[in-house]
Amino acid sequence: MKIAIIGSGMSGLTAGATLAKAGHTVTVFEQFPNPGGVTATVTQDGFGWEIGPLLLEGFAPGDKGRMILEELGVSDRVPSVHEDRGLSMPEFTLWRPKEYEGPYWRGERLKKLFPQESKHLDRYYRFYDRMIGLMSLARQAETARGVAAVWLKLRMWVAFQGVKDKVNWNGGQLMDHYFESPVLKTFFLGIVADFVTAPSEFPALGVPSIHLETAFDKRIPTYPGSKSAQTAYTYILGGCQTLVEAVMGVILANGGKVLTNTTVKRIIIENGRATGVELADGKIEPAERVLASGGMKEVFFDLVGRKNIPAGLVTQIEANRLMESVLMVQLGIDFDPTPYQTAALCYYYKTQDLEGAVQRLCHDHLHRRPGHPGRGNLVGPQGGISR
Ligand SMILES: Cc1cc2nc3c(=O)[nH]c(=O)nc-3n(C[C@H](O)[C@H](O)[C@H](O)COP(=O)(O)OP(=O)(O)OC[C@H]3O[C@@H](n4cnc5c(N)ncnc54)[C@H](O)[C@@H]3O)c2cc1C
Repeated sequence: MKIAIIGSGMSGLTAGATLAKAGHTVTVFEQFPNPGGVTATVTQDGFGWEIGPLLLEGFAPGDKGRMILEELGVSDRVPSVHEDRGLSMPEFTLWRPKEYEGPYWRGERLKKLFPQESKHLDRYYRFYDRMIGLMSLARQAETARGVAAVWLKLRMWVAFQGVKDKVNWNGGQLMDHYFESPVLKTFFLGIVADFVTAPSEFPALGVPSIHLETAFDKRIPTYPGSKSAQTAYTYILGGCQTLVEAVMGVILANGGKVLTNTTVKRIIIENGRATGVELADGKIEPAERVLASGGMKEVFFDLVGRKNIPAGLVTQIEANRLMESVLMVQLGIDFDPTPYQTAALCYYYKTQDLEGAVQRLCHDHLHRRPGHPGRGNLVGPQGGISR
């Protein structure tokens, strides 16, 4: 089939590579001069800056991203290194210790820093282990068949009973349940600020999955593949652009095209079916299938058109809240920073009021109009968030 793909981010490129390899005629249309979307790496003077992901899940041997690369035959072109990160609060910073101190070393450190919360930390880690157990079973159940699948589902049901009471809680309630110290609450939940999501908006049972112990010490055993939800984090050598080029290479090697500086203005619909795309210069590109990535509202409302989609879907899309924009400040340095920051990546949480900081970011700092009295810093002294 002749297939038009809108967007050269990882979703468009992965779909394109899979389809091109299967013998279809693929053209990817990209509005920007460089392919890669969010996974592009910006380079200048020999330095590279990621505009999106830094440490990635899914590329250790046996993990899903790695399996896709293997299926496409380009895994050896995307080398990655297993790494971890630090976490810094105004009161303390936790870097991975020189000698490995076991999977719960962070909990032990926190007990020394917050002796009054010792029992609370034990309880939280018991909850963490239960959730990891449940998520690991769910992972295994994805690929299991027959009796093995039924057995896994039974075990999942049993494991779920241990956390069921928190199923309708949000992250803030979970932290209030386990901890008294606002510092500890931010410590375990701070990463939601990455998605500009407040603790009250995040599901409690999701907390362990976004704050895996393995993310903070690469020596904690990980079980890549389907066995455990405690996965490994990796940097792609050469930056995410390496990933983009390897996957894009599959499209090109199989006769496909990736056209940059080419904006799709409209998806042509005839008799309820997509029959091609119209480009910004008015050119029509016929296609038997059209795949689109990019923003949901832009794709359905601007490219497909409201009149071409069911009313229920329009309502559903309209109700979908957009994530706040992310502002990244990229700094190129020409000295070794390891005496100051031992891991390449460190999260700095400068607030004890995560809920307030995120809410202020959503409703106050970012949304003040120019000239509004009191317009101030994005990262305010009363509790901003920076990374
Ligand atoms: C700052 C940041 C950090 C992140 N960190 C992580 C991380 O650590 N780990 C992780 O797994 N994920 C991370 N993510 C998320 C992940 O990077 C994205 O979810 C993923 O890369 C999105 O891929 P995509 O192909 O769906 O979209 P995109 O990469 O956004 O690609 C969409 C492409 O479509 C193009 N396009 C849109 N409309 C048109 C049109 N009309 N015509 C032509 N072209 C068009 C756009 O220009 C763009 O290139 C991060 C994201 C950001 C922004």
